Amino acid sequence: MTTHCEQLFKEAKKYMPGGVNSPVRAFGPVGGVPRFIARADAAYVWDEDGSRYLDYVGSWGPMLLGHNHSEILKSVTDACARGLSFGAATWTEVEMAKLICEMIPSIEMVRMVNSGTEAAMSAIRAARGYTGRDKVIKFEGCYHGHSDGLLVKAGSGVLTHGIPGSAGVPAGCTSDTLTAVYNSLDSVKVHFERAGEQIAAVIVEPVAANMGVVLPQPGFLEGLRSLCDQYGALLIFDEVITGFRLSAGGAQQLFGVTPDLTVLGKIIGAGLPVGAYGGKRSVMEVVAPLGSVYQAGTLSGNPVAMAAGYTMLRILKEQPYYYEALRNNGAYLFEGLKKLLKNAGLPYAVNYLGSLGCLFFTGQKVTDHESAVTSDTQAYAAYFRHMLSRGIYLAPSQFEAMFLSAAHLREQLDETLAAMEEFFTDKAQSLPCC
Ligand SMILES: *Cc1c(COP(=O)(O)O)cnc(C)c1O
Repeated sequence: MTTHCEQLFKEAKKYMPGGVNSPVRAFGPVGGVPRFIARADAAYVWDEDGSRYLDYVGSWGPMLLGHNHSEILKSVTDACARGLSFGAATWTEVEMAKLICEMIPSIEMVRMVNSGTEAAMSAIRAARGYTGRDKVIKFEGCYHGHSDGLLVKAGSGVLTHGIPGSAGVPAGCTSDTLTAVYNSLDSVKVHFERAGEQIAAVIVEPVAANMGVVLPQPGFLEGLRSLCDQYGALLIFDEVITGFRLSAGGAQQLFGVTPDLTVLGKIIGAGLPVGAYGGKRSVMEVVAPLGSVYQAGTLSGNPVAMAAGYTMLRILKEQPYYYEALRNNGAYLFEGLKKLLKNAGLPYAVNYLGSLGCLFFTGQKVTDHESAVTSDTQAYAAYFRHMLSRGIYLAPSQFEAMFLSAAHLREQLDETLAAMEEFFTDKAQSLPCC
């Protein structure tokens, strides 16, 4: 018997590449048919077959307070009634900008855009315009959206200039992108020593969350800050995932390292399409119409999206106990997972911080891309399918985070741990052990 989701997927594939609008939704790495989601509430999503899942994707981050948060919904419907878009200045976008600047003090001025991709791409343009330099250092395994210059796969050695990580990206677009190894200051130093006066910026996810979850080792972010200062390059934190998730002031507040520019997305739209980049006034003043770096957007600062984002950020600012709930949820789930892995005699790595975490099917410590990819992706696929069969919706790839929300309840975390335990107890024999 075919399910409704199977029928929908068949139809979808006729009209859309791979049947989806973003590749990871296609379940490629784990097999099976993507669930077409019909609705969601709090920590649950329901698919078109009526099956209910406990959601650990949370739209890849934005649903920090769970689905259908009543205050956010109300601000959106109120904004809709006033008009969907004007293509002109609005007070809501100013309030949103003010709030971002208050909550993240390193952001003195901010520009709204429509996605994280756009925000990262534009931040780099601003950094290049400000410094008059072309080269950018990024880290292997960090994702900054799909703009040409940032879709780079590291070459055989860290000294190799960026090789496009996608067909359709001309080599010329990535020749100024240098790659370094996450958590290795030495790999960054090498670039600065060779070409320091040509490097406009270092862009980094302060907690890497696009190769699973990889935490910065003590001194790594501080070291990047001082190398940038030494060579007159800008430090850009891509906080599209970490911003407003790890603390009300982002990862930069948590780690006490101040970037020159910050890239935001996901949570700041509360589920609507928004991105933003901002930072030092002197740098942001290069952006048009003040300065000579051009960047524009028909729907940028869209009043509905701004209303959603403003309400989300206001709640987070006024109700800091949400962060305690998020931290408690993360600690409960991931410490519980560590314990049951230990009981099952499996040495897999669990990396987490606050409400962001990842189980890697490897016995190695995961500190960078090279160690992350030692994970057994077939084992992850089996685990994913088991969890799905138990009504738990995880990211359909080993190299994504688990996103917890403040709406996840203790009994739901217990249910999740029970499903995990079932898998690790039953499958312990057949699982590859490192
Ligand atoms: C998701 C993500 C992006 C891209 O954002 P989109 O809104 O998908 O374009 C950029 N940087 C990081 C760290 C992300 O996680």
